[in-house]
Amino acid sequence: ESEAEEYRKRREITVEGRDVPKPVKAFRDVGFPEYVIQEIVKAGFTEPTPIQAQGWPMALKGRDLVGIAETGSGKTLAYLLPAIVHVNAQPILAPGDGPIVLVLAPTRELAVQIQQEATKFGASSRIKNTCIYGGVPKGPQVRDLQKGVEIVIATPGRLIDMMESHHTNLRRVTYLVLDEADRMLDMGFDPQIRKIVSQEDDSESTVAANVPPPQIRPDRQTLYWSATWPKEVEQLARKFLYNPYKVIIGSQDL
Ligand code: ADP
Ligand code: MG
Repeated sequence: ESEAEEYRKRREITVEGRDVPKPVKAFRDVGFPEYVIQEIVKAGFTEPTPIQAQGWPMALKGRDLVGIAETGSGKTLAYLLPAIVHVNAQPILAPGDGPIVLVLAPTRELAVQIQQEATKFGASSRIKNTCIYGGVPKGPQVRDLQKGVEIVIATPGRLIDMMESHHTNLRRVTYLVLDEADRMLDMGFDPQIRKIVSQEDDSESTVAANVPPPQIRPDRQTLYWSATWPKEVEQLARKFLYNPYKVIIGSQDL
């Protein structure tokens, strides 16, 4: 117990939430399957970054989480490796199924970068992904979605477009990532994010009185990432995270 605290102090890891798991010191302590470890080794990484050391055991618990760490601190793999494990634990896609993992990102450039990591680390388990962003023709993106992909990385506007034209749906999304939440809010994506996150599972009608509001789905894990933690970011997080873990790297008064 105090060993975990000592480690957190040394690496400037602050945690909040109920039943926080211990941070991991080495890649092999996470409990990742061997195919994930192999990719990490191939990438030449020597140890988890602080956000990974604490974020991985949290994400693998299946709970919602808020991760705050500066740019360049390894947030992408902090959510992508658990996403890959998650996908591999799900039944395979059936025709017409939408993605299992959805990553929302503010810009095309960032979405493409995330896709490159998803491709690299998902290849050995044959996970298919695609990137959905505006400013380019829809045809190739539509064809990818129709083929069926487990992971979609998207900017909010084009994703809503694809949903409204029934080229994809979020019924199977059980792992939802909001990357660079602060930038997405700065860019005015708040309404689009709310719309995407609150998509109801229209495969069943839930009218019982004590069903949680649609933005909080018991079958969906939501991971919310940001470099900064201003009030607006916190408000959005509070709206759709259930019993989240929170991990902050570095100075606490962000
Ligand atoms: P962030 O999203 O926090 O800005 P990134 O996920 O883009 O950071 O990671 C920044 C860089 O660090 C990338 O080139 C990534 O491949 C690399 N990286 C990720 N994890 C590790 C690690 N454990 N050790 C070394 N480099 C890493
Ligand atoms: Mg990032």
